[in-house]
Amino acid sequence: MRKSVVAIVGRPNVGKSTIFNRLVGERISIVEDVPGVTRDRIYAEAEWLNNTFNVIDTGGIDLSDEPLLVQIREQAEIAINEADVIVFLVNGREGITAADEEVAKILFKSSKPVVLAVNKIDNYEMQDLLYEYYSLGLGQPMPISGTHGLGLGDVLDEVVKHFPTDVQQDEDDERIYFSLIGRPNVGKSSLVNALLGEDRVIVSDVEGTTKDAIDTEFKREGEEFTIIDTAGMRKRGKVYESTEKYSVLRALKAIERSDVVLVVIDADTGIIEQDKRIAGYAHEAGKAIVIVVNKWDTVDSSQDAMKKFEDDIRKQFQFLSYAPVVFLSAATTKRIHTLIPRIIQSSENHSKRVKTNLLNEVIEDSLAINPTPSIKGQKLKILYTTQVATKPPTFVVFVNDPSLMHFTYERFLENRIREAFGFDGTPIKIYARQRS
Ligand code: GDP
Ligand code: GDP
Repeated sequence: MRKSVVAIVGRPNVGKSTIFNRLVGERISIVEDVPGVTRDRIYAEAEWLNNTFNVIDTGGIDLSDEPLLVQIREQAEIAINEADVIVFLVNGREGITAADEEVAKILFKSSKPVVLAVNKIDNYEMQDLLYEYYSLGLGQPMPISGTHGLGLGDVLDEVVKHFPTDVQQDEDDERIYFSLIGRPNVGKSSLVNALLGEDRVIVSDVEGTTKDAIDTEFKREGEEFTIIDTAGMRKRGKVYESTEKYSVLRALKAIERSDVVLVVIDADTGIIEQDKRIAGYAHEAGKAIVIVVNKWDTVDSSQDAMKKFEDDIRKQFQFLSYAPVVFLSAATTKRIHTLIPRIIQSSENHSKRVKTNLLNEVIEDSLAINPTPSIKGQKLKILYTTQVATKPPTFVVFVNDPSLMHFTYERFLENRIREAFGFDGTPIKIYARQRS
């Protein structure tokens, strides 16, 4: 299922990031203890009335060398391309400016639903300031105060009304959705072309995706695949398309819709910090992951070199120990046949469900090998384990006291589960819950 996306637009200092931070709250702070992995501060999850959606702060896409009007236009375009609903924010204390009118004009011409929010209306006496904003032609202006948190609920009520209803992907859709992420020039588009070869079956504008995103469908080895488009595949020369923030945003959106994410790295340039950050996003999202080392034609391609490169990957991407590594060349198509089987395997493992009785047998055997630890004289007791979810496989271990579950013991159980059931290519999650 794809989450709806809301973008906040408006000229600098109207309060976009203040509103953004209120919407996403502490979700923005990172969930996992992976060094270097943080959610980007311009794209994050928010929730309102049982709707989970993503919010983009277009102001966070840094185009600072450009004139104000260019920035404003491009940010409005990002919103139109990337979002289902746009919140257009103006500053109620300053009245309508030329830049506001410019944004209004662009939004008016698009077919995207727009909610006009007038910020910095900090108290009721200031309500009269609203009226002039009717002239922007974008419907009823709604008063809010980012700093005081007033009016935000009404704006969100209006926003969720406009969420598309067709964004749900079919539950028993058997297709494997995957995306390719990686820094510019690692060879993502070349790899897509090499994969498709002559067999390009359908290039379709899939319902419910933004106008710009083109999903490519193909069949191979008895499976059906959809490649989800990410930034950098079809640039059209907009200023924002070459910014790092924008490509991260597109990558995060693509990751979200994927079952499997191919983390593409360049054998020629080796692994750099940016590769780790990008891989971190996929890991954090709980997707199946295949690491693809492209441009293998440019280096000494002996078995030894492969082993050395893989060791380096294991060292640099410790949090991806479950991800298989594939070496290939998109340019020469050498070893490219090794990729599809890995995608299939990782996807199968990502949605695998194991039988409860087998699972508990494995846990009992594990307890016999390595008894549970004690903390301050209190011994951890494991009563029962069950798989509660797939994509990624998620297990709940019922225990006497969850605080006694040390992460090293959890890691031990994870390894045992992996050895017993084979979860190559997918992260798995384990939670300890109290049951007396
Ligand atoms: P952005 O550039 O659009 O992201 O704007 P910011 O969120 O950085 O806010 C710009 C300034 O306006 C900051 O000093 C905020 O504290 C202030 N501000 C934001 N919302 C409100 C509000 O509702 N009332 C008042 N009085 N100030 C606000
Ligand atoms: P993207 O920005 O990640 O989509 O990268 P591109 O697919 O546009 O490739 C960037 C450059 O790397 C282009 O000049 C490609 O021809 C080149 N390239 C891509 N794959 C390979 C490969 O396997 N070997 C070599 N030698 N060059 C490659």
